[in-house]
Amino acid sequence: MAQADIALIGLAVMGQNLILNMNDHGFVVCAFNRTVSKVDDFLANEAKGTRVVGARSLEEMVSMLKKPRRIILLVKAGQAVDDFIEKLVPLLDTGDIIIDGGNSEYRDTTRRCRDLKAKGILFVGSGVSGGEEGARYGPSLMPGGNREAWPHLKEIFQSIAAKVGTGEPCCDWVGDEGAGHFVKMVHNGIEYGDMQLICEAYHLMKDVLGMEQHEMAKAFEEWNKTELDSFLIEITANILKFQDADGKHLLPKIRDSAGQKGTGKWTAISALEYGVPVTLIGEAVFARCLSSLKDERVQASKKLKGPQKIQFSGDKKSFLEDIRKALYASKIISYTQGFMLLRQAAAEFGWSLNYGGIALMWGGCIIRSVFLGKIKDAFDRNPGLQNLLLDDFFKSAVEDCQDSWRRAVSTGVQTGIPMPCFTTALSFYDGYRHEMLPANLIQAQRDYFGAHTYELLAKPGHFVHTNWTGHG
Ligand code: NAP
Repeated sequence: MAQADIALIGLAVMGQNLILNMNDHGFVVCAFNRTVSKVDDFLANEAKGTRVVGARSLEEMVSMLKKPRRIILLVKAGQAVDDFIEKLVPLLDTGDIIIDGGNSEYRDTTRRCRDLKAKGILFVGSGVSGGEEGARYGPSLMPGGNREAWPHLKEIFQSIAAKVGTGEPCCDWVGDEGAGHFVKMVHNGIEYGDMQLICEAYHLMKDVLGMEQHEMAKAFEEWNKTELDSFLIEITANILKFQDADGKHLLPKIRDSAGQKGTGKWTAISALEYGVPVTLIGEAVFARCLSSLKDERVQASKKLKGPQKIQFSGDKKSFLEDIRKALYASKIISYTQGFMLLRQAAAEFGWSLNYGGIALMWGGCIIRSVFLGKIKDAFDRNPGLQNLLLDDFFKSAVEDCQDSWRRAVSTGVQTGIPMPCFTTALSFYDGYRHEMLPANLIQAQRDYFGAHTYELLAKPGHFVHTNWTGHG
């Protein structure tokens, strides 16, 4: 019987590509799938000529594995993961390892980790990012769960992961229980934010500056040589250039109704749950929701008036630079908020997260960028950094962008362009840098109608109630 290094269950797009990636790196992989005929199809086609082996039952798969057994699940998130775990447990020995590489909710991962620990099985929930291409040639891998599993996975995981800089793998141990899936979730939220910010820049270019597709493509190409150098800016330039078979640009023909699978929403829900102002990702999710109300918007567009059409009269080149800087500053805010959420979750769950390492791990994802390297540098300079905005590099970057950012936002507001992420980022910045916010009035109102008490600035920790109406 062949001695496979690792098994992978789930022969859809991610699973097949990850198997071929592991095979390329010298590991013998045993493939299995619920619909068993897909195993034979895979061996006869995509995996032909490789060292990949197949199993026709879970029993056969388990019998083919070296110990401790390592089994990756790459199946549809949710019940399918629990179903496979239930079937696998009676077949496994103490110390064997199950890894869930799907987009599972981090709380499910924590539950599975605890249940399996009680049964002597080591469970790992690993974020896998980079899509089909990443799975094949180098994904970002964010493993968390039962730490005892890591020494048995490190070699395989780090060799198949994407590499950045001088060959550092976009994979390291993230933390206990659901930490890996939490970090993956926040990454997905940040991806929503990055995409929406680019869309807002595109909207301003198109509707305020009246730029043509090729001009916008050129602008994004130029931006990709600046601090904004990133995969998403690069593909945006390519999308803007792309022409359909009829010789016309494809982008304006695409229905402006964005889809979503829910991981951005999960990030926003977690932010609300843990009380962290991750406003930009929230707005990015809502922007997709609003976009999907296409039919309603078509009706409303016939009835609701915006400002009088204003012809842009300023200097186009300098406003384009304002938009670029607004995008850069807003992006800094988005990552600042994302890392605030990670810090809060770490405190809630007792995870010890390596924030610089997380930025490095995201280097194989859709959000890969030069920018992530700057975040890594900031945490290398100060591992205890409380907030990204307080790092000297980011502080001066935002200060440098500030005037442009405000001009871009105010021009957009005056011309009626929706910019939920540019504006929320600026509001966050202004809120965070204010020593005094008007929340004193909220406290007074709460005490007025509900006797909720308030704290005096001069007497911290001392809560009092006032009879605001003078009677009762
Ligand atoms: P998928 O479409 O999410 O799932 C298909 C796989 O799940 C098939 O192997 C299917 O088996 C199995 N499956 C579905 N329902 C099942 C059930 N009730 N019981 C047992 N098996 C079941 O595949 P995918 O797109 O490759 O993604 C795999 C995982 O990676 C998912 O969690 C996904 O969210 C995550 N992910 C995907 C991407 C991406 O770009 N696609 C990126 C990162 C992470 P059958 O063949 O028998 O139907």
